[in-house]
Amino acid sequence: MQRLQAFKYELMPTGEQQRQMRRFAGACRFVFNRALALQKAKYEHGEKKLGYAGLCKLLTEWRNSTETAWLANAPVHPLQQTLKDLERAYTNFFAKRASFPRFKKKGQADSFRYPDPKQIKLDRPNGRVFLPKLGWMRYRNSREILGMVKNVTVNMAGGKWFVSIQTEREVAQPVPHGDAVGIDMGIARFATLSDGTFYAPLNSFRRHETALRKAQQAMSRKTKFSNNWKKAKARVQRIHTRIGNARRDYLHKTSTTVSQNHAMVCIEDLQVRNMSKSAAGTTEKPRTNVRLKAGLNKSILDQGWFEFRRQLDYKLAWNGGWLIAVPPQNTSRTCPCCSHVSADNRQTQSRFECVACGYEENADVVGAINVLRAGHARCACEVSGAVMPPAAGTHRSDSRPAHRRN
Ligand SMILES: [Zn+2]
Repeated sequence: MQRLQAFKYELMPTGEQQRQMRRFAGACRFVFNRALALQKAKYEHGEKKLGYAGLCKLLTEWRNSTETAWLANAPVHPLQQTLKDLERAYTNFFAKRASFPRFKKKGQADSFRYPDPKQIKLDRPNGRVFLPKLGWMRYRNSREILGMVKNVTVNMAGGKWFVSIQTEREVAQPVPHGDAVGIDMGIARFATLSDGTFYAPLNSFRRHETALRKAQQAMSRKTKFSNNWKKAKARVQRIHTRIGNARRDYLHKTSTTVSQNHAMVCIEDLQVRNMSKSAAGTTEKPRTNVRLKAGLNKSILDQGWFEFRRQLDYKLAWNGGWLIAVPPQNTSRTCPCCSHVSADNRQTQSRFECVACGYEENADVVGAINVLRAGHARCACEVSGAVMPPAAGTHRSDSRPAHRRN
C-alpha cells in the first residue's frame, strides 16, 4: 500500500533567502486575498464563482500588469497552489463543511507550497533542499526522509522558517494487532477507553494561559509598531508556539499508543462545530448556561478532539486498523449490564449507577463501553447490509428526547 507522510524540519536560510521567503508568502497572501475579494463580490451579487482555470488566467494577467509586476518575482506554482487552496475552501463552504473563507493576515500562517516534485531537489546526505527562486537551503536534519518527494511546504512560525516535505512510499500491508476498543472523549479526562485506561486532560492552554494574558497585556500597553511593541509581540507569538507544540506532542503520543494497540477503535461522532456555535445562544432564546458552555467549548478546542480523531484515523490506517464513528445517542445513559436507558442512571458527572439493576462504574468507562457496542453493531450491519439497529439503548424509561450530557 502507498503511504503518504510529511517530514518537517527547521530551515537555516541566509538573510537574503529569509527576505525572499517573506516576499513569496506575501505574494501568495496578496493573490489569495485578491481572488477571495473577487469571489466574494460575485457571491454577493448572486453571480457564479470563478473556477480554478479562470482564477489562473487572472493570475497571469496580474503578473503581467505594471501595477502588480512584483508578483512575477515570486515562483508561479506556489501562487497557483494558493488559488487551489481558495478553491478548496470555497468548495468546503458550499458543502457546509466550513465557514466562509477568511482573508489572510500578515504574520498569520505565513506559508507557501511547491506542488511540483520535478522542481524540487533533495540532497539527503548534506541535509539540503533546492527550491525554485530560493536555491539550496540547509535544514536541521533530525530524522531520515523516506520515500519519493511529492511536494514541499515552507512556513514560518514563531519567527522561524520550516520546511515540510511530503513523500510517498510503498509499504507492506500491515497486520493490525490488538482488539476493539471504544473511546469516550471528555473534559475531566481527555479520553477514556472501554478497558478502563484513561488519559489525563490536556490543559496546556490553561497552564500557559496566565503567561499569555500577561504578555498580551504588556503588548497592549506599548505604542503600536514601536520597537518595544515588536518585542512584546514576538513574546506573545512564542507563547502561542509553545502552547501549540505541547498540544501537538500530547495528541501524537496518545493517538500513537491507542492506534498501535488496537485493531478497531470506535469513537463518538461529535459535531464539534455545532457545539461551538450553540454556546452564544440566540437573541430570541438566550441561554442561561452560556458561561458554562463557553468554558466547555474552549476545552473542546483546547484539547483538539478533531485533531485527535484525524490522527487516530490515519495512524490506524497505517497499522491496518479501522476507526469507526458512531452517533452519540444515549451512550452516557445506557446501562451496559441490562441496557436500561435513563437520565437517572447518571447521578453525578463521574458516577454511573443503574436504577434498574444497580450496576456501578465510572461514567466515562460506561460511555466508552457503549461506544464500543455501537461500533460493533455498526460494523455488523455494514457487513450484512441490514438496517442499523439501535445500538446503545433499545428501551427507554422516559419519552424525553436524548440529550448529551454536559
Ligand atoms: Zn442496569
